[in-house]
Amino acid sequence: MALFKKKKNYIRIRPNRDETPTEGPFVPDDMWAKCPSCKHTLYTKEMGAEKICPNCGYNFRITARERLALTVDDNSFTEWDTDIQTKDPLDFPGYLEKVSQMQEKTGLHEAVLTGEATIGSHAIALGIMDSHFIMGSMGTIVGEKITRLFEKALEQQLPVVIFTASGGARMQEGIFSLMQMAKISAAVKRHHQAGLFYLTVLTDPTTGGVTASFAMEGDIILAEPQALIGFAGRRVIEQTIKQELPEDFQKAEFLLEHGFVDQIVPRTQLRQRILDLINIHTMKGWKNHD
Ligand SMILES: [Zn+2]
Repeated sequence: MALFKKKKNYIRIRPNRDETPTEGPFVPDDMWAKCPSCKHTLYTKEMGAEKICPNCGYNFRITARERLALTVDDNSFTEWDTDIQTKDPLDFPGYLEKVSQMQEKTGLHEAVLTGEATIGSHAIALGIMDSHFIMGSMGTIVGEKITRLFEKALEQQLPVVIFTASGGARMQEGIFSLMQMAKISAAVKRHHQAGLFYLTVLTDPTTGGVTASFAMEGDIILAEPQALIGFAGRRVIEQTIKQELPEDFQKAEFLLEHGFVDQIVPRTQLRQRILDLINIHTMKGWKNHD
């Protein structure tokens, strides 16, 4: 059936974006993206810098650096605590190699970027998790960086803003990962008792030990549209309770309806909303109360 035989390599997908094509037509690998929510194939330029699906409004997962550029005043960010290194407490096979590969691939020190920045000239302590770094999982370094973020914010009397994105605790560090939940929560409490403001923005996906600790401890909790937010996965819950869960279970909209989230804010409006909330909560005379 030579008549219907496909031409080989008619359009090549460039395997590596650094590779220069030498022959034939090709499609750059970052030209098209498939929306995980509405399944439409999108021309990436249509999504804009915010990376929002023009068809259904899904906010695509973005890197910590992209988030930083969308959120804070230009050139205002100073990164904190990049000198602490994973010790591999369980001697987990291949773990340290995996961490260094991820550092090289993402340009990040760990799964959370922390530091100080200004937003509309207000100084804030800022943490941004990145799901591209071992699924944003929380090990000892992520836990330590977030704890120090709250401690420094307390010292400098700054509000804290954290963007969460995590698959949960880092299994390669076992129980040491779980301990971070209590450690961070204690630091959040001290910051709170000093009357300082803490804002969390839950992004897709926020799950496991991160949801079970600091993600849900914000004075105000915002979420991006359609973000997956939960503790255990859907299948595990269904098997445990032996019931089928609703279609939108663990979506930001479902959580808003059930009182776990204060507001859903599209990425295009997020910077302004954060700025407004910080403005209100750092006004003279304002104090955080239990
Ligand atoms: Zn879509």
